[in-house]
Amino acid sequence: MHITIIGSGYVGLVDGACFAETGNNVTCVDVDETKINNLNNGIIPIYEPGLETMVKKNAEQGRLSFSTDIASSVKTADLCFISVGTPPGEDGSADLQYVLAAAKSIAQAIESYTVIVDKSTVPVGTAQKVKELVSSLTKTEFDVVSNPEFLKEGAAISDFMKPDRIVIGAESDRAFEIMRQLYKPFTLTGAPIIEMDPKSAELTKYAANSMLATRISFMNEIANLCDIVGADVDKVRHGMGTDDRIGMRFLFPGIGYGGSCFPKDVKALVKTGKENNYEMSVLQTVENVNAKQKKVLVNKIVSEYGEDLQGKTFAIWGLSFKPKTDDMREAASLEIINALLAKGAKIKATDPVAIEETKKIMGDKIEYFTSTYETLNDADALLLLTEWHEYREPDFDRIKDTLKSPVIFDGRNQYERKVLEKKGYTYYAIGR
Ligand code: NAD
Repeated sequence: MHITIIGSGYVGLVDGACFAETGNNVTCVDVDETKINNLNNGIIPIYEPGLETMVKKNAEQGRLSFSTDIASSVKTADLCFISVGTPPGEDGSADLQYVLAAAKSIAQAIESYTVIVDKSTVPVGTAQKVKELVSSLTKTEFDVVSNPEFLKEGAAISDFMKPDRIVIGAESDRAFEIMRQLYKPFTLTGAPIIEMDPKSAELTKYAANSMLATRISFMNEIANLCDIVGADVDKVRHGMGTDDRIGMRFLFPGIGYGGSCFPKDVKALVKTGKENNYEMSVLQTVENVNAKQKKVLVNKIVSEYGEDLQGKTFAIWGLSFKPKTDDMREAASLEIINALLAKGAKIKATDPVAIEETKKIMGDKIEYFTSTYETLNDADALLLLTEWHEYREPDFDRIKDTLKSPVIFDGRNQYERKVLEKKGYTYYAIGR
């Protein structure tokens, strides 16, 4: 099939590469000329494991191309995917301006029946809005489908190639049939295609992300209580997660959830509730708990050193909102760094891939290092903020020799208190 993907970011580029991988003819378009020029020169704008190889292979074989010319790419497409950003507006609702702009470009260009697919995470009723907008601009036949994306950054390619399920919300058999055909290669391992109406599909995506965010905030509260009463959240997590009604996943406490999806999707669902005169009280609390959790590590630092951190230097390992990505959107590290800078501290930071993205936000307010251990020179303590594999089993003797004093604030519960205390460390973790 001929596919045009509008918006070549974390989702659009991965989806485009994976659709090309299964033999489709894909054009990824974007309004960002630099991004498209870079892609045409083999430069991949984001860090995502396996993406570069897949993009280059499919581009070389002529199945994947990049363009800023939306109109000519749309004309020849059987399907047009909208995968532009839906950032939170000031009131928390999803800002639909990019989705509607993309829909308008499609409407102005289509010349024969086209399936328009909302891939972006969009509030209930958006497929209907897109349908009304496109109808007002063209007489050409089309269908609008909601097909939310469930990939995880850091494992995006394998999530897309081997999905747990594919959700399709459509109103016509013709659209359902084209979508079934498109996704057939991705269902050979038995993953179901779950068909529904567009509104239910739209809500499914928000409900899934909000459930995961709820588990995280719930565990963060349990961890905070563990800290107060002297229990160990790791033991509690194991004890409860082995109940197969609960399961072990998404039960890790930490420094609060971040990233481009959970914070904005929880906010947007709360807003959808409000717009429909319904208070989403659980999710409102999930958000409040998360905002508080982003301060927990700083509070522990203040308990060790006091409110005034002038003259103190902290070494940070890990900046991205989670491992295996360079995405810094809503990363908890940013809030922690800003809080420490405001109290007069100096920050030295490293990350395997997110230094360039962090520089765009923090500039020269902090010092950056590519070497994990050089980051520790002259620092009063180490803060572990992202659980990259390479930070899991570090050389604790070397860390102790390099730091001014052996203190670790472990925001991801990666290390063993007993081991560290035996080596003479002061060790802070979350709920244990
Ligand atoms: P992104 O910011 O990485 O990419 C969006 C791209 O769209 C940008 O390159 C931008 O230049 C381009 N764009 C904006 N307006 C355009 C227009 N009118 N025409 C062409 N291009 C345009 O965003 P993302 O992380 O890929 O997210 C896209 C959507 O997918 C969001 O709704 C997000 O919630 C959802 N989603 C994201 C993830 C994720 O892990 N990032 C996972 C699932 C769903």
